[in-house]
Amino acid sequence: MPTKEEIRRMPKIDLHRHLDGDVNMGVLLRLGGNSGIKMPSFTEGGMLQYFADLKSRGIDKLFNEGFGLVTSLMQTKESLSRVAYEEARNLRDDGIIYAEIRFAPEFHTLAGLDYTGVIKAVSEGLKAGEKDFGVKTSIIVCINRASEQEKGIDIAVSALNCMDYGVVGIDLACDEAAYPPAKHAQAYYKTFDTPLKRTVHAGEFGNNLYQNMHASIHLLRANRLGHARTISQHEDIIKAVLKKEIGIEMCPESNMFMNLIRSRKELNIGNLLSNGVLVSVNSDDPAMFGYTLTDSLYNIAVDYGFTMEELRLLQENALKSSFLTENDKVEVARAIMKR
Ligand SMILES: [Zn+2]
Repeated sequence: MPTKEEIRRMPKIDLHRHLDGDVNMGVLLRLGGNSGIKMPSFTEGGMLQYFADLKSRGIDKLFNEGFGLVTSLMQTKESLSRVAYEEARNLRDDGIIYAEIRFAPEFHTLAGLDYTGVIKAVSEGLKAGEKDFGVKTSIIVCINRASEQEKGIDIAVSALNCMDYGVVGIDLACDEAAYPPAKHAQAYYKTFDTPLKRTVHAGEFGNNLYQNMHASIHLLRANRLGHARTISQHEDIIKAVLKKEIGIEMCPESNMFMNLIRSRKELNIGNLLSNGVLVSVNSDDPAMFGYTLTDSLYNIAVDYGFTMEELRLLQENALKSSFLTENDKVEVARAIMKR
């Protein structure tokens, strides 16, 4: 049984990590101090308690008020770059050597930045952090499912125009229960036959998990699915992801935190791995939900009886299904071998 320290030291890859879900309390307090926004507390302990209280009053409360506070503090070029820089530090501290960081530009335009300005600010912070902390990052641009279709198309076009700033893919995020994937098909069509890749939050929550996974694969031509927590129940979806080499970004700790599963074993990660599905384990919103990718992999190792070999296989799958170019994948693989 691997120890937590062994897992922390293992070079790791995180494909599903939200920038606004990974702002440490200290960073949040510093941003709050300069913003003029009334903060719920002036200490890190007080802030943690604030988020814990929100969660005890319901996940919706945490999302609306908690994420609302965090994103309200990420509206300027400086604050976005700062959070992105600190994100690179978080990756280094958890032994993550490559991560695809995602965020929805439309949540960061209150102070006048446009989508491209938001993406460039995040990119600048990540690049500075890469240098200082020795990690590698890429950007995935999220479309909020609740937004108008036109906005979704504008964001997809901004993502395409920002590939030089490290954007490698687009994602569809937020309320899966209310908005099926088809709503933003036009935005996804913009990326067909371009080098930009596609992932979709699908099979996370709501009553249409199967339909959403199916539409994400066949209509939106997803290269990866975010969560897909019931995938093992559907033979045709398994067949499709094997045939099309679609990566599955599981986020077990997040599913546990949101009470979407009772046990990590419900995800059937062991079977998926042995059947050759490109499944990986990712963090989702680590600072906001209070765990690290190391914690998540450790809990998976305990629940499934995984050895380091299986944990390394999860990293291999993550690298294979990452949105890096083939050359960059080789570079990351070399960096892993050197450790
Ligand atoms: Zn997510």
